[in-house]
Amino acid sequence: MTLQTDAMIESLLTRIDGKRDDLIALTQDLIRIPTLNPPGDCYRDICDYLDRRLSAHGFQTELVRATGAPGDSDKYPRWNIVARRDGTELGDCVHFNSHTDVVEVGAGWTRDPFGGELVDDLIYGRGACDMKGGLAASIIAAEAFVEEFPEFHGAIEISGTADEESGGYGGVAYLAEKGWFDPKRVQHVIIPEPLNKDRICLGHRGGWWAEIETFGEIAHGSMPFLGDCAVRHMGAVLGKFETDLFPAMAARHTDMPVVPEGARSSTMNINSIHGGQPEQPADYTGLPAHCVPDSCRIVIDRRYLAEENHAQVSGEVEAILRDLAESRENFRFEMREINHVAPSMTDRAAPVVTTVDRSIREIFGKEPDYVASPGTYDQKHIDRIGRLKNCIAYGPGILELAHKPDEYIGVTDMLDSAKVMAHALAQLLLPGMQDG
Ligand SMILES: [Zn+2]
Repeated sequence: MTLQTDAMIESLLTRIDGKRDDLIALTQDLIRIPTLNPPGDCYRDICDYLDRRLSAHGFQTELVRATGAPGDSDKYPRWNIVARRDGTELGDCVHFNSHTDVVEVGAGWTRDPFGGELVDDLIYGRGACDMKGGLAASIIAAEAFVEEFPEFHGAIEISGTADEESGGYGGVAYLAEKGWFDPKRVQHVIIPEPLNKDRICLGHRGGWWAEIETFGEIAHGSMPFLGDCAVRHMGAVLGKFETDLFPAMAARHTDMPVVPEGARSSTMNINSIHGGQPEQPADYTGLPAHCVPDSCRIVIDRRYLAEENHAQVSGEVEAILRDLAESRENFRFEMREINHVAPSMTDRAAPVVTTVDRSIREIFGKEPDYVASPGTYDQKHIDRIGRLKNCIAYGPGILELAHKPDEYIGVTDMLDSAKVMAHALAQLLLPGMQDG
């Protein structure tokens, strides 16, 4: 860069350092709004808070309720906010998307999960790292950039969206369906999920969820030969998974840079199994009735690689079930798809990737690591529904802390990643900076 642009960047970074206290207070405020999902609490409250904050900094805001989306109700409305600040000339729009929901608290906390307690450099709370810290960092980055360069070209958008933790259908998917991520209005998307401040996340594996049910025939438990045990049929399914499916999946490896390493193979979790009578409440003191179960159900969570596809993934499970129907007496089954998400991988040469790559080099003096997520996040909707391929996840925080007790975010990490985000804005929205 030239001396002049060096000085401009220096001034931008100094401005971000000066916002440390503001960043801490903002992060604490966000954590103190308990946006638990499920059920989807306080979405309106957090949108109103962001509305006040961003309106005061010159953003045009719009609150969008995902009316009719899964989970949306008058009791638990799915509110989202999109804030936009236009520059003085036309140009690209850079969009920062953060989900506002957090998962249940769970056991094992030694801090108040909604207290936003600051201890040395760390702020504690549910959602601190996943991903209110990332949201706060992007807000500070955008505000500092606009204050420093009010005459920028293009636009900056910041969205706070609902329901990422439950699939994103009341959040990014809804906005994408309504055209908010149309490549004609948004050109670059950064999702500040906690992927560590020096890593660029290009995408995620695919996911396929299904319920499998085996059927039997009810009879008295003392004479099981008069009935047909659905649980034993399911045992045969699980046996086939062990001998055939799991080894086959473990042998498949992807070129995607998925972390952790174990997720570079195909994986499957068996989420639940239930057969026979419904479970009784914990305070039931009676004995179970003596019945042969006529139904057994499992839910499976199959995560797949860019090198596999939906038809293959569901087809190989169905083939196991069909084989059993031929080889095993009275074996009857139903398989029902619950949800499907295609894998998403942004090209390494995409502009948002090369821009953030350069910003990480400039700010940290090192090459970024490239990763892909073992799970999925809202990139799937921006890619598939929005048809926008220029999208990454980049943000502060340690991925492994997400959803854990005593979740925290480092203030210095947030400041550092805000610098990368603001540096990226400078490259994309200031004329002459990219080739400077
Ligand atoms: Zn998240």
